[in-house]
Amino acid sequence: MAYDVIVIGGGNAAMCAALSAREHGARVLVLEKAPEAWRGGNGFFTAGGFRFGFKSFEELAELVPDLSDQEKASMEVDPYTAEQFYDDLMRVTEECADPDMAMLLVSESLPTVRWMRDRGVRWIPMFGRQAYKVGGKFRFWGGLVLEAVGGGAGLIDMEYQSAAKNGIDVRFESKATKLVTDDRGAVTGVVVRTPAGSETIDAGAIVLASGGFEANPEMRTRYLGPNWELARVRGTPYNTGDGIKMALEIGALPWGHWSGCHSVQWDLNAPWHGDRKVGDNFQKHSYPLGLIVNLQGERFVDEGADFRNYTYVKYGRAVIGQPRRTAFQIFDQKVLHNLREEYRIREVTKAEDMTLEGLARKLEIDADGFVATVRAYNASLRPGDYNPAVKDGKATHGITPPKSNWALPLDSPPYVGYAVTTGITFTFGGLKITSEGQVIDCEQRPIPGLFAAGELVGGLFYHNYPGGAGLMAGAVFGRVAGRSAAAASRKGAAR
Ligand SMILES: Cc1cc2nc3c(=O)[nH]c(=O)nc-3n(C[C@H](O)[C@H](O)[C@H](O)COP(=O)(O)OP(=O)(O)OC[C@H]3O[C@@H](n4cnc5c(N)ncnc54)[C@H](O)[C@@H]3O)c2cc1C
Repeated sequence: MAYDVIVIGGGNAAMCAALSAREHGARVLVLEKAPEAWRGGNGFFTAGGFRFGFKSFEELAELVPDLSDQEKASMEVDPYTAEQFYDDLMRVTEECADPDMAMLLVSESLPTVRWMRDRGVRWIPMFGRQAYKVGGKFRFWGGLVLEAVGGGAGLIDMEYQSAAKNGIDVRFESKATKLVTDDRGAVTGVVVRTPAGSETIDAGAIVLASGGFEANPEMRTRYLGPNWELARVRGTPYNTGDGIKMALEIGALPWGHWSGCHSVQWDLNAPWHGDRKVGDNFQKHSYPLGLIVNLQGERFVDEGADFRNYTYVKYGRAVIGQPRRTAFQIFDQKVLHNLREEYRIREVTKAEDMTLEGLARKLEIDADGFVATVRAYNASLRPGDYNPAVKDGKATHGITPPKSNWALPLDSPPYVGYAVTTGITFTFGGLKITSEGQVIDCEQRPIPGLFAAGELVGGLFYHNYPGGAGLMAGAVFGRVAGRSAAAASRKGAAR
């Protein structure tokens, strides 16, 4: 069987590219390096949360036809417009995001979510992770409302079911190792290594969607810097930068924030790469409700600077700079009921004690430093109304770093502490693409026959990232790349 479009990678971006190429008439093959048991790349490990712009609750509810009237009445959701999405993206990336890419992402976000729904992806509101129950209602916050039914695992299942229904071929344990080009530099195929040996498969166009280099310790150290080889990998061990390297080998331009990445606070004793049973539950994202200290008992970030969606990525990076790459999230009894479900898993590194000194000893934090920090923090607080569902402005006064919102005293034992380190999610550096998803070379020209989507595209995320934008970007740019690859292969065939 000859293929018009070959998609390299089998995560969310790849499957969106494959579905899009197929609906534009291409015969499509997906090549996935991992065995089937690891199907779905990082996409499998996600909560399945998608960030997109919507103008009204009705527009949102239309994506969730199963939502009962009672559920609808229990939700308080402010519209999240494309303009807000764009502003958030620019703000958190320190205005570095490519404006054209950012605009394409936000303007195509809702149409792409609808397109996915029409291809069998179903959605539900993120009641547990993105809302607090206030006054009997679920108050959603932070511009992220829907997740795929079944989270990341469900998302991947639904995408593979749709691929099978649409006649897309998928081969596992098929690692792309080299792009084949003709004498014009156009990509005409790919060399694939399987347990049975190597072969070259021709195609009218190729879409690279094989993830970043987060699971490659050598590349992490080389591009992100010292100690990044010691970070835990949150997701698949198979994203080792292959697609990026293959494209650079044929002259693609490196682009984006090569020394930047998405990382989070992750259980101190989590394994070296993701565990498909635990999924993303090693993350610890309720820190805005408490304090974060290092081994010396010192605070080093403003835990309440913003909703966690806008700070969790840069705070993952902040932890790697602390002694032994270790930090502790500390809570008291007043807020424990509001901690996310990931704090209640069996595989958690935590301690509890009636006294601050006792807690410090159990967690091996410097007790004097810790007690001094908590005393100074408690003394810096003023009266004010606390509300975790809005930025309540309940802040510290006169301490550094401040806590700008949700600053309740830490005074209700037993105190509970969770030990975390840095878990890397994905890398920001990669390839440069056009608005049609074509890969650009070092002479600023598109490489004929080569398209890209997902984590291995650079230019969108710098420094930080608004939660839920990774899957959305993979879907938007995957859909574009698939459509363009199908058109390119038709053009090639007509020549
Ligand atoms: C724990 C965790 C939680 C997350 N939660 C969210 C969330 O809720 N919302 C959100 O928006 N984002 C989330 N993300 C980020 C999100 O997973 C990524 O942005 C997105 O999945 C990237 O999609 P992708 O298709 O580019 O990469 P992936 O889904 O990782 O797919 C890449 C695939 O390429 C394959 N591959 C690699 N090399 C080769 C090769 N040489 N040949 C063939 N195949 C190859 C890999 O095996 C892999 O399956 C999370 C990530 C993690 C790890």
